[in-house]
Amino acid sequence: MMDDILVLVEHRQGEVRDITFEMLGKGRQLAASQGAKLTAVLLGSGSGKLAEQVASQADTVEVINHEAYADFNSDTYQRALANLIAEREPLLCLIGHTSYGIDLAPSLATQLSVPLITDVVDLNLDSGSIVATRMVYGGKARARVRAKSPGAIVTVQPGAFTAAESGAKGEIITTAGSLPGEKARKRFLEFIEAASEGVDIAQSEIVVSVGRGIGDPKDIPLVEELATALGAVLACSRPVVDKRWLPKSRQVGISGKTIKPKLYLAIGISGAFQHLSAVKGSGMVVAVNKDPKAPIFRAADYGIVGDLFKVVPALTERIRQAKNGK
Ligand SMILES: Cc1cc2nc3c(=O)[nH]c(=O)nc-3n(C[C@H](O)[C@H](O)[C@H](O)COP(=O)(O)OP(=O)(O)OC[C@H]3O[C@@H](n4cnc5c(N)ncnc54)[C@H](O)[C@@H]3O)c2cc1C
Repeated sequence: MMDDILVLVEHRQGEVRDITFEMLGKGRQLAASQGAKLTAVLLGSGSGKLAEQVASQADTVEVINHEAYADFNSDTYQRALANLIAEREPLLCLIGHTSYGIDLAPSLATQLSVPLITDVVDLNLDSGSIVATRMVYGGKARARVRAKSPGAIVTVQPGAFTAAESGAKGEIITTAGSLPGEKARKRFLEFIEAASEGVDIAQSEIVVSVGRGIGDPKDIPLVEELATALGAVLACSRPVVDKRWLPKSRQVGISGKTIKPKLYLAIGISGAFQHLSAVKGSGMVVAVNKDPKAPIFRAADYGIVGDLFKVVPALTERIRQAKNGK
């Protein structure tokens, strides 16, 4: 048939993950350019509510219902999807480049003998053939690749695409799943939430983030004081976590948290793609950096080019004065 674009709905703990909506946003764009149909595939157990959430962004939501699909299991998921994909022969199948997708997609593609393109940050259909940009060498370089045959499975990097409300009202088709054949080789045991040390940076309306530009952990309190003056939480970029200056729960970015505060202040952060894609939903971005060419300034609404050791104390002081009515 080759006229379907399939998107695998990723859900966890009864919630559709953002990556699903990002893939549907891109899928919608590609489907429109090809006159193709956008189908969201939801493997779940009693997941009617999740299907409703996705229906506004796809032409069809195919729910395959089975208690074995309540929680992610690459083994049972692979069996269900292999059948569906073999039957449908879609033009393209999008799966999140997440811990789930990384577990599932390679073995699914191998079973189906279809091309696999992983960690994709851009995607196009050029006369029906799939052209993708993917991260290589741990994100240090990008490669442009073309699938040799249609029907590729593509894993999409979180944050690479934007979710878009289509206003459509997709049809929800529910079928009962079955698990014939041998017993599942993997079993879902339990979900353990990572400890967040009481602070959830994704919940705060104002976030002040410190980057490698701070240079020394003893100076982090300087930025923390600014955060306190603003009633903000303190967050950071990945190198600050890698150096163990702040805990992982404070990390903003694709391998940390995606945040959407009303105000985001980036202090001594260069603005790498992996960082910026996790703050693009912020109301306003303000950056302080001594390098006028830092990429963060392209994403910022306001930028201060200067030494953070001068700018940050001055900002803190000014905010304190404003609060005291001076
Ligand atoms: C697979 C993968 C996942 C990743 N996930 C994440 C992620 O989740 N989050 C994340 O943040 N990164 C992530 N990264 C890393 C990312 O690519 C960047 O390396 C990182 O974001 C850089 O952090 P930074 O901006 O703090 O440091 P740098 O890039 O070193 O920037 C420091 C900045 O501080 C400025 N500066 C220095 N001194 C001063 C001063 N005195 N005053 C003002 N400015 C100053 C410099 O001009 C510079 O722009 C990931 C990378 C990979 C490959």
